[in-house]
Amino acid sequence: MPDIQSDDVQSRLAAVLARIRATEATSHRPAGSAQLIAVSKTFGVDEIRPVIAAGQRRFGENRVQEAQAKWPLLRAETADIELHLIGPLQSNKAKEAVALFDAIHTVDRDKIAGALAAEIQKQGRAPKLFVQVNTGLEPQKAGIAPREAAAFVERCRAVHGLAIDGLMCIPPADEAAGPHFALLAKLAAEIGVSELSMGMSGDFETAIAFGATYVRVGGAIFGSRPPLVTAAVPEAPEEPTAG
Ligand SMILES: *Cc1c(COP(=O)(O)O)cnc(C)c1O
Repeated sequence: MPDIQSDDVQSRLAAVLARIRATEATSHRPAGSAQLIAVSKTFGVDEIRPVIAAGQRRFGENRVQEAQAKWPLLRAETADIELHLIGPLQSNKAKEAVALFDAIHTVDRDKIAGALAAEIQKQGRAPKLFVQVNTGLEPQKAGIAPREAAAFVERCRAVHGLAIDGLMCIPPADEAAGPHFALLAKLAAEIGVSELSMGMSGDFETAIAFGATYVRVGGAIFGSRPPLVTAAVPEAPEEPTAG
């Protein structure tokens, strides 16, 4: 059991929030216009509770199964939790994802859009939806190519009947993030969506300067994650990732 001191995690949360507010100010943006998603993937309920106790209510997870194991309990303890799915979604998990999450950041193909639309209809829930854009055109990364983003958002709306609220990106790890954030902001303006999910522990201030409305911050709050091999909840691939 990792022994993260709760006062450490609370002071790190306070420091991240202060940096967000300071960057909003220097970017001439209203206070609160960049909202913090505390990314709690790989951390257990005992490590998440102090962050909730400190007042944070918006959290991000990247696996449906891992989130299902943690958040029903935490939600039973605290009513107004807002949960964001920031990792890849498989269409056969759409039912669970729509039931559990208040926002889904990783809509990136028609199969997912169709599965989400069916579940949203069936369950009468309306999670906020983001289309993930692969701004660096990285083959190993999810997301729609920038030049296909506008047409895909239009298909989400016209074919699948989905309301798309914004765009999300994860810039290549080895490149300056600014140009990727600028590209995402430009695409969002062209497409006519207002939410921008961009920026992580290493670059959230840059993202805010480029207009992020949601930043996704894990390590800077929770500390470094345990190695993935021990931390990951096993989740077998249920469908080929291509197409
Ligand atoms: C893990 C993760 C984050 C948070 O990353 P940190 O560097 O720990 O802040 C943000 N976005 C996505 C999609 C992630 O998977």
